[in-house]
Amino acid sequence: MIAKVIVDIPSKSVDFTFDYIIPQRLQFMIAVGMRVIVPFGPRTVQGYVMQISEEPDSSIELSKLKEIKEIQDIKPELTTELIDLSAWFSKYFVTKRISILEIMLPSALKAKYTKVFTIQDTEQVPSHLLAKFDSQGQYAYKEAQKNNDLESLSQLLSIGVVAEQTILSQNTKKKKQRAVKVVPEVDHEAVLNDLASTKKLQKQHDLYAYLLEEQHHTVLLTELESMAFSKSSIDGLVNKGWIEKYDTVISRDPFEARVFEKEDNQQLTADQQQAYNSILETIKAEKQQTYLLHGVTGSGKTEIYLQTIEEVLNKGQQAMMLVPEIALTPQMVLRFKRRFGDDVAVLHSGLSKGERYDEWQKIRDGQASVSVGARSSVFAPFKNLGMIIIDEEHESSYKQEDYPRYHAKDIAEWRSQYHQCPLVLGSATPSLESYARAEKGVYQLLSLPNRVNNQALPEIDIVDMRKELSEGNRSMFSENLRSAIQQRLDNKEQIVLFLNRRGYASFMLCRDCGHVPQCPNCDISLTYHKSSDLLKCHYCGHQEQPTNQCPNCESEHIRQVGTGTQRVEELLQQVFSEAQIIRMDVDTTSRKGAHEKLLNDFGAGKGDILLGTQMIAKGLDFPNITLVGVLNADTMLNLPDFRSSERTYQLLTQVSGRAGRHEKEGQVIIQTYNPEHYAIKDVQANDFTAFYYKEMNYRKLGKYPPYFFLINFTIAHQNMKKVMEASKHIHQILLQHISDKAFVLGPSPAALSRINNEYRFQILVKYKNEPALHEALQYLDDYYHEQYIKDKLSLKIDINPQMMM
Ligand code: ADP
Ligand code: ZN
Ligand code: ZN
Repeated sequence: MIAKVIVDIPSKSVDFTFDYIIPQRLQFMIAVGMRVIVPFGPRTVQGYVMQISEEPDSSIELSKLKEIKEIQDIKPELTTELIDLSAWFSKYFVTKRISILEIMLPSALKAKYTKVFTIQDTEQVPSHLLAKFDSQGQYAYKEAQKNNDLESLSQLLSIGVVAEQTILSQNTKKKKQRAVKVVPEVDHEAVLNDLASTKKLQKQHDLYAYLLEEQHHTVLLTELESMAFSKSSIDGLVNKGWIEKYDTVISRDPFEARVFEKEDNQQLTADQQQAYNSILETIKAEKQQTYLLHGVTGSGKTEIYLQTIEEVLNKGQQAMMLVPEIALTPQMVLRFKRRFGDDVAVLHSGLSKGERYDEWQKIRDGQASVSVGARSSVFAPFKNLGMIIIDEEHESSYKQEDYPRYHAKDIAEWRSQYHQCPLVLGSATPSLESYARAEKGVYQLLSLPNRVNNQALPEIDIVDMRKELSEGNRSMFSENLRSAIQQRLDNKEQIVLFLNRRGYASFMLCRDCGHVPQCPNCDISLTYHKSSDLLKCHYCGHQEQPTNQCPNCESEHIRQVGTGTQRVEELLQQVFSEAQIIRMDVDTTSRKGAHEKLLNDFGAGKGDILLGTQMIAKGLDFPNITLVGVLNADTMLNLPDFRSSERTYQLLTQVSGRAGRHEKEGQVIIQTYNPEHYAIKDVQANDFTAFYYKEMNYRKLGKYPPYFFLINFTIAHQNMKKVMEASKHIHQILLQHISDKAFVLGPSPAALSRINNEYRFQILVKYKNEPALHEALQYLDDYYHEQYIKDKLSLKIDINPQMMM
């Protein structure tokens, strides 16, 4: 028997299958998708079995083939579907297959681990084998291999008498955390009465009452703190000996041991019912159909996901739901857990390697039928998918920008074809590409034009900041916004202020000569970081001390400009001295769990104003928010990217949706220097289709998606001349492979023309249907792979680019 194996060497020159003989002793257990150890030249390397056949290809002499040395898995880690997918992916995105196989598998498989057999049914294990299991009922795979027990164990595995388990070395270290409980011997009634008699001790009373109620559950210290119980209340009770702190071991599944209140389905509205029926039909017919579910926030899209998933599960199939990382909040997960309980596997970057692997394994072994996860969960190893959902389908985070570059939507579409099941794309602001496909009938459009509770969308005011300036207001808060904030503060209502990430970088500027300190390695200004008092480059990591004297003209009038979130917070505090401000940006949320905590604090009313960047645009749903202010709507509009209007429209719509989601009416104030821009006016009118048609016109004129497909080539090297030569060469090759209906633009310096001392040039191809183009891509990728090895000259091929910088 022969196995076709891809070896784990990340090089183009060996990125195809090699044939190996499967020795007799391994034949009984080898399967496609397993990892094996094989000799490769002088080395021994890991490889993946892609295919198994009786005979080698006719061109190969059997005597020349080497043998597989060892099998590393008890069960295959990769499904045959994922192996097929990797072949397609490799062609479509011009990517090394080994790199794809690697991102498909959880990273835990690269860490230290042991595979063991565990006993499921003691009575059926023959006694000579039983003796070899340890006191925990485990028998290590390596041991079994040594003792020649693998064959008997595999048989037991296939009938379920034993199971396999992967134990990561980090598993053993369970995390300890501090918890709090009432001291059982104390007379609780007396304590409560005592605390109730003093008004000043009200907080301690509430805390004690809470702990008493929860005395049979574990209450973590961190939990208490996030619930607005202060440290001083907790310590006060500890000092009196009424409550105590202790260590507790937390299980890896954050939701384990929690009983979920089963949540019932909502009675669907007429619009929801229509969408639901459509999707259900496709589920039943078991065919591929892509739906675009266009519904404003709060229109009940998630309810439709939940109810259609239920139908899929009832059919004995599985469902996969993708959400942007930032939307994968505990509230979201809870909603799924309440409907589907332990059937749900959650995959996101907050999990440890071990936790991630546990969730992944549940899917692989059929113990979980629903996955909720970010981009990379699109590779979840389900075997019988009945539906795939991508929520917030317009989000750019579905594109992986690092190698191997891919878009989760393309992968999802491939998988829905493979499984012949519906793919549902949901959004309040669909991407132009998706909406255009829906218009052409390639996708089926499902619309939910109203919020479920018929709550009106908030009123949106647009403030012209140019006028504000000409009227003498130089501050960053317009008069309109200032008075609206004051009014909310007076009413004890909450405010969200949004600062566009792209606009908040602050830098140093010489007031006399205009000099701005630049990165010595990159073609970009250095950003000033107040907390560390350093100038930093965001691209190469260079950092330096700011000087008090301009290096150009020696003037001392060099100082910080721009509006960092920190700076805005200071200004805000000056104007509204009584306001409690919670700031959310990369600095305040870098610690794990900080994002969550700040939001909880705000939800619990611990702040009046939430000031933040992009990260507050989503998932924020608090009844007391009645005002949303956008400080700088324009910064994104001015980016050199054909999607800048679309991104602006999406973001502003998203942010506006944070106001007035409940009983209290909401107001939105958008400050801008471009009040006539259609992206801003259409947000105000909440008119997606108006925006869509205008934007489509520009796309048509500019020959951009969705009218044309794009491929972006970036060529980089330290030597400018080499970059230009290579660019010319690539340009020529491309011209030879395309028709006169396609366009090759450039070569031209990239928007960021130098990063880390490398010059960067770009070439952009615009095309509709070019069958020969693929051959050129493959050729160029191979050719420049060699150039990279020889000379570090790099070529990045970005298929359907999402970022033009
Ligand atoms: P979206 O995903 O479009 O933002 P959701 O599905 O989260 O909308 O629905 C918004 C709110 O309305 C949720 O609290 C949800 O429980 C509720 N909801 C959804 N559908 C219904 C319905 N048919 N009847 C009553 N409430 C509903
Ligand atoms: Zn100067
Ligand atoms: Zn730099």
